[in-house]
Amino acid sequence: MSPEEFRTLGHRTVDWVADYWERLESLPVAPQVEPGQVRRMLPRHPPEHGEPFEALLRDMDGVVVPGLLHWQHPRFLGYFPANTSGAAVLADLLSAGLGVQGMSWSTSPACTELEEHVLDWLVEILGLPDRFRSDGRGGGVIQDTASSALLVALLAALQRAGKGEIRKEGIGSRRFGVYVTGETHSSAVKAAIIAGLGEQAVRHVRTDRDTLALDVAHLQTLVLRDLADGITPLLAVATVGTTSTTAIDPVAAVGQLCRRHGVWLHVDAAYAGVAAVCPELRWLNDGVAEYADSYCTNPHKWLLTTFDCDTFWVADRTWLTEALTLLPEYLRNAASESGRVTDYRNWQVPLGRRFRALKLWAVIRWYGVEGLRRHIRQGVGLAAELARWVRADERFELAAAHPLALVCFRLRTPPGGDADEANERLLHRVNASGTTFLTHSRIDGRVVLRIAVGGTFTRRHHVEQAWQCVGREADRVLQPVPD
Ligand code: PLP
Repeated sequence: MSPEEFRTLGHRTVDWVADYWERLESLPVAPQVEPGQVRRMLPRHPPEHGEPFEALLRDMDGVVVPGLLHWQHPRFLGYFPANTSGAAVLADLLSAGLGVQGMSWSTSPACTELEEHVLDWLVEILGLPDRFRSDGRGGGVIQDTASSALLVALLAALQRAGKGEIRKEGIGSRRFGVYVTGETHSSAVKAAIIAGLGEQAVRHVRTDRDTLALDVAHLQTLVLRDLADGITPLLAVATVGTTSTTAIDPVAAVGQLCRRHGVWLHVDAAYAGVAAVCPELRWLNDGVAEYADSYCTNPHKWLLTTFDCDTFWVADRTWLTEALTLLPEYLRNAASESGRVTDYRNWQVPLGRRFRALKLWAVIRWYGVEGLRRHIRQGVGLAAELARWVRADERFELAAAHPLALVCFRLRTPPGGDADEANERLLHRVNASGTTFLTHSRIDGRVVLRIAVGGTFTRRHHVEQAWQCVGREADRVLQPVPD
């Protein structure tokens, strides 16, 4: 494809994306496809000869779009949002066009230095501690996901706990404890498995019945029990905004305990952390400045930055880089050896890395901090309004607190009815309607439905339409009538 062809087809492709965003609202949110249906529309064998790019764009409409769950649909209210935005997409195109690899400073100095700079900006924007900034002992890096952030935090914790020996010898007969709750994201257990600690290293700390937040007294019991058994308490995960309900663990109290026993504290604020862009939500950072050894939040969830973009900081980068640094001959260069540059390959699992900082830079520059605040406040405001609608409707009850933009609720069922079954049926009907898309979780074993506001294109009337749809389908669930 010559640059001239690229220019023409590029315009057409940008048009395609803009048209997609414009017509999203007219599409059913969720696909109605059977397993295998998409593949059956694809040729069995790859083309021997090249095809015009327009043929691919035609298949986007005919094959791909009908098989999509439309995450950017303004009435997509499931899971957590996965914001994309024009600014981020265009900057991602620049990144793809440049096609640079930023594994070492020397393999593209601008790729590394822009990332360091933008992550320092984000420290300031989110009110995070100065010790996360790159000009001290700490620093930030963009990981693909919060799951990878947790894995590298665990590897850094092993480096610190094992005084460097584990890197050489492996874990051997050493035993470690990793502390999570039933509400912690499953990536914590996955990290323990990948690091070779096994699921047996993971301790499940109780949560408070009402707030679903980590019970610090129980954490203390588990840590002391491990110490008594000769097991090294390694890492605790405190979540700010859990996946099921956005519960907030008491970071400061967890941190005090971790500090006392030399446990690495990783704060997982994957969804909620970016909301600290608003001064009135800065309480989300309570305890982080004093106690977090590592911290992450995902601009790719709720801060308008196209997936993938997890921002991860450590208070002291030594452990992380000591854990992951290797310098094979083919990567040797004067800059690395001078010790004056950051080589981000030593902060992550893969060697290669995309120029992800461009899209975050573009988002911050396009919206400005004030525009980012407006986006977060819109989500929080709409969720508060939705919660009022839930409260005012006697068929429903709120199932958890809603400090941010996620509302968990459930259908009350008449005496003798099965509440879980009714809520599952309601969810199925709502999603099959194509009007909106919600997901569920369980609190204390009981099914709850989740509405996560905060999509890039979601406005008040979309949430209103979604809630009307829930109400309509609830009538049908409560008083079944023949369809
Ligand atoms: N942590 C929390 C609290 C989450 O809610 C999620 C995903 O929703 C994750 C971690 C995992 O995110 P990622 O897909 O970036 O690994």
